[in-house]
Amino acid sequence: MGKNLDAKCKQCRRVGEKLFLKGERCSSPKCAMVKRNYPPGPHGPKGRKRSSDYGLQLNEKQKARKFYGLNESQFKISFSKVQKKGGDVGNNFLRFLEMRLDNVVYRAGLASSRVQARQLVNHGHFTVNDRKVNIPSYQVKIGQIIKVKKSSKENRQFKNLPEKLKTMLSDQKSWLATDSKDLSVKVLHEPRPQDLPLNIKTHMIIEFYSK
Ligand code: SF4
Repeated sequence: MGKNLDAKCKQCRRVGEKLFLKGERCSSPKCAMVKRNYPPGPHGPKGRKRSSDYGLQLNEKQKARKFYGLNESQFKISFSKVQKKGGDVGNNFLRFLEMRLDNVVYRAGLASSRVQARQLVNHGHFTVNDRKVNIPSYQVKIGQIIKVKKSSKENRQFKNLPEKLKTMLSDQKSWLATDSKDLSVKVLHEPRPQDLPLNIKTHMIIEFYSK
């Protein structure tokens, strides 16, 4: 059976928001959320069904999980870790997800999607403070420098990146500083509330897991 190329877009259509799973296509008019902003299935654009509170909480959890590209157990384990520490669980959870190495690589523009970032990290293309790290869930720390490995810079994925980055960096999150020549990014500070994604209602995720 052929590969379902639309599967990622269906995830966006199901949760009703762009999850940015397909790199450049997500910011183009070809994005399925521009052309077909309704749930996938045989019923077509008849609008979204009203959901129960539980349904809404489940949808919010699924949206955040897919946005960061985690499977069910990775997402739940991450949430439990943050919850145990107490404090502002909602913001702390988003901060924890933002500071994953795969997310930082994506935010810095060194990969076109989180899916690609995770794959590149897995394949050992990055160093953190000059040491190879191939764990996508690795939590970056303030002051660390994440860099494309010298031997990887000639790879197809990175070859034209310096040019591309020059045009992208105006959207950069302020907690990261990308060096487009060096293909590296420095973590300046932890993401502040204004650096966290505004479209994720963390109180609903907390309610979902408190049941
Ligand atoms: Fe597809 Fe658009 Fe979602 Fe990207 S944001 S995965 S193009 S529906």
